[in-house]
Amino acid sequence: MIQTVRGTRDILPADMPLWHRVEDVAREGFRRYGFQEIRTPIFEKTELFARGVGEATDIVHKEMYTFIDRGREDREGESLTLRPENTASVVRSYIQHRMYADKSSGESTKLFYTGPMFRRERPQAGRYRQFYQIGVEVLGTSDDPAIEAEVIEMLDWFLKELKIPNTTLLINSVGEPATRAVYLEQLRRAIEPHLDELCGDCRHRFETNPLRVFDCKVESCQKIILTLPTITDSLDDGSREHFEQFKAHLDARGIAYTINPRMVRGLDYYTKTAFEIVAHDGLGAQNTIVGGGRYDGLSETLGGPPTKGFGFAFGLDRMVMALPEEEAELLRAADAPDIYIVFLGQGARNHALMVAKELRSAGLAVGMEFEDRKMKKAMTQAAKSKARYALIIGDDEVTSGRYGLKDLTTGEQEALSLAGIAEKLK
Ligand code: ATP
Ligand code: MG
Repeated sequence: MIQTVRGTRDILPADMPLWHRVEDVAREGFRRYGFQEIRTPIFEKTELFARGVGEATDIVHKEMYTFIDRGREDREGESLTLRPENTASVVRSYIQHRMYADKSSGESTKLFYTGPMFRRERPQAGRYRQFYQIGVEVLGTSDDPAIEAEVIEMLDWFLKELKIPNTTLLINSVGEPATRAVYLEQLRRAIEPHLDELCGDCRHRFETNPLRVFDCKVESCQKIILTLPTITDSLDDGSREHFEQFKAHLDARGIAYTINPRMVRGLDYYTKTAFEIVAHDGLGAQNTIVGGGRYDGLSETLGGPPTKGFGFAFGLDRMVMALPEEEAELLRAADAPDIYIVFLGQGARNHALMVAKELRSAGLAVGMEFEDRKMKKAMTQAAKSKARYALIIGDDEVTSGRYGLKDLTTGEQEALSLAGIAEKLK
């Protein structure tokens, strides 16, 4: 038997109502806050991610699904990569389609996306090699911290609407890459005496980009990380002021947060504001549901015009896992048909098919099998479908045009015409 590839999985019908709920609420939030959808390709030139996400990140260094495309007779194939994230692609598209061209000063381009991402990580609960993200990007000339607070306010609404309990917003500022040099030297000096105690990855990070040591999840490294100087203590004046304003905007909107000076996020493009949302229930170790921040300068890195950017991505897989069990039950129940048709005898069958058609065109979800069954068997089938009502059609019903509508939760039954049924179930 051929099975799914390690780290990938099928999302089965029973779980789909939960996925749809998260997607629907997200779309509703995007509508209310003025975001428009963009869909970029699932694979791009490898260089986009190498430059955009950063060579020194775990993602580019060891997690990308990269392959050489078939060339043509006179040309070698180019290196392509399944997207590990979508911000680089969205910024590429923003540049390629000159979305900035028709904007007035201060006006932002507000985009959202949803789709699969690919990273070759060690699979575990809440961590997959194909996973799904929904995210937004705000691109333009303004880096007003009010934009950041508004995006977080939307997330706040979103988590409440989904009834996700017990979450914490973690915030930090990672400053500006241009003024990071002094801090990075200081950090190197602090790490150096501990090099032997650090994991292999961190020794590599020490060489390529010591800031990435903060991303390490190895416990022995975590202990050392606690002793290291934080970037937040060496912020340039502009970043410090920006962070103060950001916090003031969150306060003004009544959004609670915790400052975590050691949260630097795993992608090189972040500047100034970085944030994460952690869910404390139902997720175990992989409990970061949202990650985001500011990435001024990413556009320039990709050959575009000077652009300010702010965005986030949340993991759909983890968001679904974070839905409370009672909510999940309700969502699954709502996915059942409204009515299940039970017909008795071949004579009633053709009539039942027409009734199903009528009710469906009236907008109802109708379940029905084609096989003639005994009453008891057919009712078991109706219960199994989880439909709220069974509609019973025998020869008498065919002649009278009134059908027995049985409420499967209360057991009550009444005789109604088709119009009466459609009216009642509206
Ligand atoms: P983590 O620290 O959990 O590895 P990350 O910092 O790599 O997360 P981002 O790249 O910022 O995550 O992606 C944003 C969100 O996407 C994460 O908060 C998480 O919910 C989700 N996510 C990232 N990687 C995976 C994965 N391999 N499987 C499932 N969800 C993921
Ligand atoms: Mg990661």
